Amino acid sequence: MAILPQRHPSLNHARILNHIAPPTRLHSSAAAPPKPRRPDSTPTTTSRPPVLNDPTLQSTWSHRAWLASGCTTVLVSLAKSVAAAAESHIWLEPIIAGLIGYVLADLGSGVYHWGIDNYGGADTPVFGSQIDGFQGHHKWPWTITRRQFANNLHALARATTFVVAPINLVCDDATALGFVAVCSGFIMFSQQFHAWAHTTKSRLPAVVAALQDGGVLVSRSQHAAHHRPPYNNNYCIVSGVWNEILDSCKFFEAMEMVIFFKLGVRPRSWTEPNSAWTEEPQTTSSLSEHRREEIVSRQ
Ligand SMILES: [Zn+2]
Ligand SMILES: [Zn+2]
Repeated sequence: MAILPQRHPSLNHARILNHIAPPTRLHSSAAAPPKPRRPDSTPTTTSRPPVLNDPTLQSTWSHRAWLASGCTTVLVSLAKSVAAAAESHIWLEPIIAGLIGYVLADLGSGVYHWGIDNYGGADTPVFGSQIDGFQGHHKWPWTITRRQFANNLHALARATTFVVAPINLVCDDATALGFVAVCSGFIMFSQQFHAWAHTTKSRLPAVVAALQDGGVLVSRSQHAAHHRPPYNNNYCIVSGVWNEILDSCKFFEAMEMVIFFKLGVRPRSWTEPNSAWTEEPQTTSSLSEHRREEIVSRQ
């Protein structure tokens, strides 16, 4: 999922290679695999946060163009679904398909988020920038609230365009298009829901806070748990409805075990303590900036 805070130079030293599963450890740990989790936060004050000098917090015309493209693609899918439903007089199936799309979008966001949080690195083809971005997000989570709208959404909008546009060209089925439109739309905007989950309630639009409180969008408290030790849960960022289900049955831990024993690749959530994985506090300057923004927003 997209595409977050700009990679900070100090993250370079922290890129973790996951292909480190010596056979001896495999055998010795078969019954109880190694599970050192991401460390408790031990914030440092020496690193400079990326906020003030990070130009990528701003939207570019390229970002806006991709966002427009993604929105257009989703709206075309939705319009085709409605048109097909009107023509066939079959409405129930497309509506149910849309609801299923909304529910599965949350599941998809969780699986994708888990994948890029735990595997690969900045040099991974296709996903590298997002993997790197999410690593930066764990270290400086508050920066997502300062990203401009299109800056935050453009990568998912681009992916939506490439996936959904071909479907729009070949599909005329109201039910299938209803599912595609709703599912892709919620996935495309998941980064906005994610940003809202990091925003204090007083700074949220009332309707957004109400949707969070009603469980329609992922809540602030639920996502906050993702940024606390052991850093291996609450990956879903659309509605969050799947978080408790997946975490209680240890779905992701089971997936990690399968990947570890099949491929010998350890997830990042098993890594030894490393300050690059933990959140840094906002510096005095960034806090001052934050307070200035709050004062301005109240005026
Ligand atoms: Zn994460
Ligand atoms: Zn977050």
